[in-house]
Amino acid sequence: MKYYSLPPFRIKMVEPIKQITKEERIERLKEAGFNPFRLKSEDVFIDLLTDSGTGAMSHYQWSALMMGDEAYAGSRSFYRLEKAVKDITGYKYVIPAHQGRGAEQVALPNLIKRKGMYVISNIHFDTTRAHVELAGGRALDCACEECFDLSLDYPFKGNFNIIKLKELIEEKGKDNIAAIIMTITNNSAGGQPVSLENMREVNKIARMNSIPIVIDGARYAENSYFIKLREKGYNEKSVRDIAKETFDLADVFLMSSKKDGLVNIGGLIAIKDNEELFRQCQVRVIPMEGFPTYGGLSGRDMDALAVGLNEALEEDYLQYRLDEIRYLGDKLQEGGVPIQYPTGGHAVFVDCGAICPQIPFDQFPAQVVCNELYIEGGIRAVEIGSLLLGRDPDTHENLKADKEFMRLTIPRRTYTLEHLNYVARCLIEVCKRGKELKGLDFVYESPILRHFTAEFKPKE
Ligand SMILES: *Cc1c(COP(=O)(O)O)cnc(C)c1O
Repeated sequence: MKYYSLPPFRIKMVEPIKQITKEERIERLKEAGFNPFRLKSEDVFIDLLTDSGTGAMSHYQWSALMMGDEAYAGSRSFYRLEKAVKDITGYKYVIPAHQGRGAEQVALPNLIKRKGMYVISNIHFDTTRAHVELAGGRALDCACEECFDLSLDYPFKGNFNIIKLKELIEEKGKDNIAAIIMTITNNSAGGQPVSLENMREVNKIARMNSIPIVIDGARYAENSYFIKLREKGYNEKSVRDIAKETFDLADVFLMSSKKDGLVNIGGLIAIKDNEELFRQCQVRVIPMEGFPTYGGLSGRDMDALAVGLNEALEEDYLQYRLDEIRYLGDKLQEGGVPIQYPTGGHAVFVDCGAICPQIPFDQFPAQVVCNELYIEGGIRAVEIGSLLLGRDPDTHENLKADKEFMRLTIPRRTYTLEHLNYVARCLIEVCKRGKELKGLDFVYESPILRHFTAEFKPKE
């Protein structure tokens, strides 16, 4: 018998969800151009589109909201948030932002000092890559080999490839590297964790070459708990100490607080001790996000975040959080659904290329499975494959993704294991007809970020 920990909370307030009929779902999906992004959420029964800003706040957070101090400058709420961030990171300077990409647009241009400078990450998250490029930089990914083997049982598939990192610095020249970004957990690699051993090696290389290190830490708490579970020597350490050890290895912390901040909106910039960089960010945050003591957030948002940051480090919560993902992964595997194994921290990635091998990559097999899952059970998932990847900017040809993934992303503290059982049952049903499914043709395709707005029709 496998063991899964129980949710360390009970339900105090509920949001009703309703299931429309299968006939209605078929109609709604057609109206949405066979793109779940275009569905109304009221027509969705279980929404696994993203874990970003979709979680439930605790009663402590809801009470903290009432304490919000809405002063434009120097509010009490800001100082409570600043204290929480300083306590967790040990960093000296804190600037709020409206969400993760807000923090990126303020901080990254101050690090990328010249056009054409490189930024190296295990894998850049989409918006991070976009902000590197908008600031005139070039984003290079440097993921470990194990990352690409779907079924290899390896504890830290989010790691950097250290040899490649050294080669890249050598090849591009250390003075041309603006920063190294450690994305923890590694979102684009399936929310897979990065080990402290790996981060220490990255730190050593960065220090030797005087390159600043940025933590892109939307899910740093989940990463820290993975380290406790899987890395030698950390079983007895507290998650807080592990997180602190992680922050000690970097210079800047950028966070989308919509994940491990346990809030519906919010972001953070924290800087260890670089006063000049802090001053530059202070200047830039004003026109981009807002005055440096609110950065696009209301006082009440900052109070909810101050509490959420601490709750996300509670170990019974984290144990349950990682277990609910593992639970869904196990149920799917038992039913013969091909997934990335072991599961990461926030989602289960389903290998749709293996479910419907007859559908070519440019007819988007994972989008087809997402659509079938919606029709089957009113469940909304998201394509992470060739549709998301887009076209080659020069040749305009469709690019082929390494894997045609469907991501089942689990919001925090929101659904029960019964909901996850239902998701597994529905997807197992869909897989049974996988070989009969047909691909999709574009009816509308926008020139960039096409996956959000595209419309399709099924192949005859
Ligand atoms: C979500 C995310 C971001 C962007 O944050 P938003 O709050 O969505 O703007 C950046 N990096 C990582 C790793 C993320 O997961």
